[in-house]
Amino acid sequence: MRASIGIIGAGFGGLSAAIHLAAQGQRVTVYERQREPGGKASEVARDGFRFDTGPSLLTMPFVLEQLYDAAGAHADERVELVPVDPICRYFYPDGTVLDASADEDAFRRAVAAVAPGDADAVARFLDYSQRIYDLTSDIFLFNSLGDLKALLRGRNLPTLLRLPQIDAFRTVHEGVSAHFSDPRLVQLFDRYATYNGSDPWQAPATLNIIPYVEYRLGGYYVRGGMYALVRSLAALAARLGVDIRYGADVERIVSESGRVRGIMADGQFAAHDAVVSNADAVYTMTQLVEGKERRKERYRKLEPSCSGLVFLWGVRGEEPSLGHHNIFFNEDYRSEFDDIFRRLRPPQDPTVYVSITARSDADHAPAGHENWFVLVNMPYLTEENRALDVDAVRSSVLRRLRGSGVDLDGRIVQESVITPRDLEERHNSNRGSIYGISSNSRNAAFLRPQNRVRSVRGLYLSGGAAHPGGGVPLVLLSGKLAARAVMEDISG
Ligand SMILES: Cc1cc2nc3c(=O)[nH]c(=O)nc-3n(C[C@H](O)[C@H](O)[C@H](O)COP(=O)(O)OP(=O)(O)OC[C@H]3O[C@@H](n4cnc5c(N)ncnc54)[C@H](O)[C@@H]3O)c2cc1C
Repeated sequence: MRASIGIIGAGFGGLSAAIHLAAQGQRVTVYERQREPGGKASEVARDGFRFDTGPSLLTMPFVLEQLYDAAGAHADERVELVPVDPICRYFYPDGTVLDASADEDAFRRAVAAVAPGDADAVARFLDYSQRIYDLTSDIFLFNSLGDLKALLRGRNLPTLLRLPQIDAFRTVHEGVSAHFSDPRLVQLFDRYATYNGSDPWQAPATLNIIPYVEYRLGGYYVRGGMYALVRSLAALAARLGVDIRYGADVERIVSESGRVRGIMADGQFAAHDAVVSNADAVYTMTQLVEGKERRKERYRKLEPSCSGLVFLWGVRGEEPSLGHHNIFFNEDYRSEFDDIFRRLRPPQDPTVYVSITARSDADHAPAGHENWFVLVNMPYLTEENRALDVDAVRSSVLRRLRGSGVDLDGRIVQESVITPRDLEERHNSNRGSIYGISSNSRNAAFLRPQNRVRSVRGLYLSGGAAHPGGGVPLVLLSGKLAARAVMEDISG
């Protein structure tokens, strides 16, 4: 018998779960409060400029290929992935410019030119990063952590016994500093903790797997922009018979005697055998589910990832010194993270990320112009920091760019701004977090909400705040794992 599955949200996590379930013959309805799919991965198009509003770099392309394969996607239903080289161009306050390339020889040569003593450390660091990936990916990424019993069973046991080798007892910064002596290289590799919104001075060095994922498995641009991937997945879901209802705001997940019965959206009840929530896991468990205050408090206590402030700038003229992805570092990286995660205030001197898709797709900006996506990391929202001085942040961004010889004075012809409060209000993202739950503690992977909710039978979570975590490939995996849990439960 086909089960009826309700999915809350058409972000990457919801679309992935919907596709996996529909491909296995289930009847799937997706409820999305916005008028279009994508969630944080949205699109702004105005006066000849086109911007992605969220993710810009796609890693772990095989996760996407597996999703397409599971759905039997035809060649013309798949997006084109374009390797980006260099993956990122780094600008330092002392004038150093360093291209980080997936071509390891090229990367080694670039490092040798600025920090000869660290040239050989790149390969050694990536080997170390790869070892952690080999040890952890199966349990921490590709499967549900499930209950402790399952974790201690069979092939997981050897990994757990080798916990010291996954470097969980040092911080990211300590692991990186043990490999590199030049502070610029340390800063570069520390930055990867931000890929899931964490602090390199607090997050366990296990997160040092991310450089392996980016350099050796590859960083890709999605031809047409990240929103092309949203369109592709939404179209694939529709072709598989998924009913996506836009403008449908789910108010409540209805349960009876600890079992899901369906959802209430816009005052209407819809019965479902199972519900997968792609809405933020903390928001889901504290606002959509009825339950004991004590349980809700446990979810509220999970530290969110950082938030972000995005400027989408239409820029007149072209800036030849920039690549597709660029980072403009500050002098005092530690102080930036202390601002974000300890003082919970906007960084006084932020690192600036700039991505220009017109470098790969010229039609994303009018001739003689560029589309700049500019991101600054911000603290998650608290009562005290909700009133953000956007003008002050814009000034510090422009100052940082000027410091590297990039003068935008009078050249910004169009601007849209996305604030932490926008992320919270538009997507119900817990405290405006970008990636869900931070990984600032050694046991974060175990505290992160699991894909199967034990306290409410028939309820599942997919998305950045659920296992295995934030970022596009992991969120696609969370949809797959939630769908797997649904299938296990309805068939057995
Ligand atoms: C500025 C920025 C830059 C980023 N850069 C990268 C990057 O370069 N690479 C990368 O891999 N990742 C990046 N990320 C992270 C990535 O975008 C996210 O991890 C991913 O898109 C989250 O997907 P999701 O499905 O978990 O959640 P969301 O995208 O938040 O989707 C949840 C959906 O649920 C809907 N919803 C919520 N509540 C309800 C309700 N009550 N009823 C109905 N619908 C509801 C929302 O409207 C939304 O559409 C970035 C994110 C941001 C914001």
